[in-house]
This record gives sequence, C-alpha cells and structure tokens, in this order.
Amino acid sequence: MRMILLGPPGAGKGTQAKMLLEKLAIPQISTGDILRAAVKDGTPMGLEAKSFMDSGGLVPDSVVIGIIRDRIQDEDCSKGYILDGFPRTIAQAEALDTMLSELGSGIDAVVSLQADEEELVRRLTGRRTCRSCGFGFHVMFKPPKAEGVCDECGGELYQRDDDQETAIRERLSVYGEQTQPLIDYYRGKGTLKEVDGLGEIQEIQGRILGAIGTA
Ligand code: AMP
Repeated sequence: MRMILLGPPGAGKGTQAKMLLEKLAIPQISTGDILRAAVKDGTPMGLEAKSFMDSGGLVPDSVVIGIIRDRIQDEDCSKGYILDGFPRTIAQAEALDTMLSELGSGIDAVVSLQADEEELVRRLTGRRTCRSCGFGFHVMFKPPKAEGVCDECGGELYQRDDDQETAIRERLSVYGEQTQPLIDYYRGKGTLKEVDGLGEIQEIQGRILGAIGTA
C-alpha cells in the first residue's frame, strides 16, 4: 500500500502515520522529520532548509523531491509506504507521479485529514517533542507525567521553533495557498479519501482504516 497523508499542519498526520505503520507494516516517510534530522546534524541540506523551516515557509521543491526519490527506492519501501508531509505543492505531486510511473508503480490512496483552523492552532501551540526519541506530547491533550521530561526515554521535551504562533499562522496560510490545491488534484485522479480529523486519536485511526478498506 502506497499512501499519502494530506492535511494542514496539526491535523494529526504524524500521529496517525505512526499508528498506521504498525498496522500496515510499511514505513512512514516524513519529509519534515528527515529535514529536522538534517538541520540537527548540520548537513548542507539542513543548512539550506533551516531558514525556510523556521519562518514557516516551504523548503524548495528540488530539495524535498530529491529526498523522496532516494527514500522510496530503499529496500524497506518495497511493499509500500506512508508519505507524511509530502507532496505539499502541485509541482511535488507531479514529480512524484513521474517518479512512480518510471518505477512502474503508483499511489493507492490519498487520505485528506480535515480540522478547523482554531483547533489546529490549539494543537500546534501545545505540541512538545522529545529531543532524544522524537516521541510527541501535548501540554493539554497528552501531557507527560513530569513536565518537560519524556515518559518514554527520560529525554528533554522541546517546542519546535515553527510551533510558535507567528510561524503557525504562516504555515497555515502556506498550506491554504500551496497544499490545499492537491485535494482537487487527487480528487480528479479518483484516489482521494476525505476523513474527519476531529475526535479521539483511535477513532480517527478507525476512520482512516475504513476509508482505505483495511478496517
Ligand atoms: P512538518 O513536520 O511536516 O510540519 O514539516 C516541517 C517543515 O518542514 C515545513 O513547515 C516545511 O518548512 C518543511 N517541509 C516538510 N515537508 C516539506 C515539503 N514536502 N515541501 C516543502 N517543505 C517541507
């Protein structure tokens, strides 16, 4: 199963992808996670991406398309994958289509997770992530047992620079302008499944599995 999780920042793509990868036994490919790792390691790609990411803008298409081209050809992607945060522009979606047709494959399902803007801002401003293991928390909805400390590994929890309110508003506006058109793009191809992203995490997972026909 090759699937795309589409949705605004804060819609729960990462959380749902991590649950789906266990159920479907295929890897999650998050361009955001790959870029953050590159920034942390100070690689040339990370240095190029950092200022775009901090301001809430998009990293150039050529950079993320290159990441995906390499990653989907890895051995663990042979049975499929969950794309989380890619594609984000029509140019990326078209590049993905070309890449996949060259490889003799295609996308099986595109799940669009929906939530209203105020809910997205509430989710994103409270989000905290472990510096060591990447586990996610939320100050209101999923607080850690001890403030600032990861329940899983004891690592330090931090707030992403782009989860500050100004960057969040920018990310949401970039989403509306550049990523939302992908909903019509995939609707036109007949692969789009629209899923309500509000409610309990498990409940949303059930909706996604129902939509892709593996419930
Ligand atoms: P995310 O973790 O998916 O919210 O991504 C964090 C940031 O990484 C985004 O705000 C962008 O700056 C950058 N990014 C991640 N994926 C992409 C993509 N497909 N295209 C362009 N920029 C991306």
